[in-house]
Amino acid sequence: MKTKAEWQALRDTLTFPNQAYINGAFVPAISGDTFPCINPADESLLAQVASCDVADVDNAVKAATASFKKGEWSQMAPGKRKRILQNWADLLEQHQDELALIDTLDMGKSISEMVNIDVPDSIDCLRWSAECIDKLYGEIAPTNPKNLALITREPLGVVAIITPWNYPLMMVMWKIAPALAAGNSIILKPSEKSPLSALRIAELATQAGVPDGVFNVLPGFGHTAGKALALHHGIGTLAFTGSSRVAGLLMQYAGQSNMKRVWLEAGGKSPCLVFEDCADIKAAARGAASAIFTNQGEVCIACSRLYVQSSIKDEFMAALLEAAKTYVPGDPLDPATKMGPLVDKAQLDTVTRFIESAIADGAQLALGGVPEYQAGKGFYAKPTIFTEASHEMTFVQEEIFGPVLAVMTFDTEEQAIALANDSKYGLGASIWTDNLSRAHRVSRQLETGMVWVNTWGDGDTTVPFGGVKASGNGRDKSWHALEKYTEIKNTWIRLG
Ligand code: NAD
Repeated sequence: MKTKAEWQALRDTLTFPNQAYINGAFVPAISGDTFPCINPADESLLAQVASCDVADVDNAVKAATASFKKGEWSQMAPGKRKRILQNWADLLEQHQDELALIDTLDMGKSISEMVNIDVPDSIDCLRWSAECIDKLYGEIAPTNPKNLALITREPLGVVAIITPWNYPLMMVMWKIAPALAAGNSIILKPSEKSPLSALRIAELATQAGVPDGVFNVLPGFGHTAGKALALHHGIGTLAFTGSSRVAGLLMQYAGQSNMKRVWLEAGGKSPCLVFEDCADIKAAARGAASAIFTNQGEVCIACSRLYVQSSIKDEFMAALLEAAKTYVPGDPLDPATKMGPLVDKAQLDTVTRFIESAIADGAQLALGGVPEYQAGKGFYAKPTIFTEASHEMTFVQEEIFGPVLAVMTFDTEEQAIALANDSKYGLGASIWTDNLSRAHRVSRQLETGMVWVNTWGDGDTTVPFGGVKASGNGRDKSWHALEKYTEIKNTWIRLG
């Protein structure tokens, strides 16, 4: 791992790609408009980036459609596609420090996390998806022997992908890797708050051999480029990661246009349940702290609701406050930093409002509190913990997307399950218990797409990631991700 001084030196050598990437080349937005990309750690300008809109979306759809019809990629032998994607993964590995640094500068997450998690996870996802694609067999249906029915999986065509800013490279890769491996042409609109790594990897994809027009990137805002993509008749499938509010809008846009298929990975308000039969309370406390303070709490699966069994509340709270002390907001370029700034002033204001509402609603502040913003010094929030919280309070119901935890108690397992499920969201849940039967029993009853037992957030490319209820549909990662990016065709042949 480089030192802080070495990361700063590398930063001075970087030039950021700042135009749209269409048909294998960087181009400005047709309007000439740009938007600023700001480093949230010091509020300095990183780049003015092309701000795409309807006309740019049209151009990208034309390029992607032409590439799909030409068949260079969509009709390429899967084994050959696999090798190109593997070349691309090799290139990403060669540029791993640069990619880590770009995301840290662009959205404020710690460089250690980028180096240890985001970049290796993204490359692994790409390699894994590439490896799958020449192992994806079709089926022959057990029909009457006078017929032959083939069930084949085919690429969909042009897929639009819209992503958030909290894990810029990783959220992008979880979608583009399986979509490209399956033979689709794609148009990616990364978040306007962190578009830089997406532009850089598109350039590297071309270098690796991905044909022009197959991977296009349109930086821009949600209400312009994003909306135009979601309403476009030339797009058959839209894959999205972001808030539940925008996920709902995308379903409307699909209905208003061509009924495009919409895959949604949306928000969360995940519960953490700590039972009295959890043998290592300190480990549970460290896990619970990590579940809310990792990435400044800007994590879809953040466990922002914590339920501890009343009998161990005092012991657990002492351990939790001790564990929380290790999260000290600081310069994300320092490898020792575990918590950087929030992504921008708007997010800091949102977090501030939720903390103020928790105080006004009567929750007891046990750690942290309202951020003390100083203009020009970055958007830092403090790790914040409230006790005496309850489900009538807004900050317990709504996703905050910041380092703010609500602690509540329960007496029985049934109560714990009922409280955990009392949410419009259903993304993840973390259970701490050493009773195996309880772990299975509770896990089965939780209305979430993912459950972690005696840990939080663990997983790799082999397991699906996603939620139920207002947290979305479909899954990223694993074989199940490929299901989203392929169409099933049935060809029925009457034998002579
Ligand atoms: P967001 O919904 O505001 O934006 C996500 C993307 O949608 C951005 O690219 C944005 O430009 C675009 N967008 C916004 N309005 C749009 C519109 N009207 N039409 C089309 N596109 C539009 O979310 P965010 O603030 O970028 O990210 C945070 C959210 O993402 C949180 O709710 C978090 O839980 C969620 N998230 C979910 C997962 C998951 O896997 N479930 C993973 C990461 C983040």
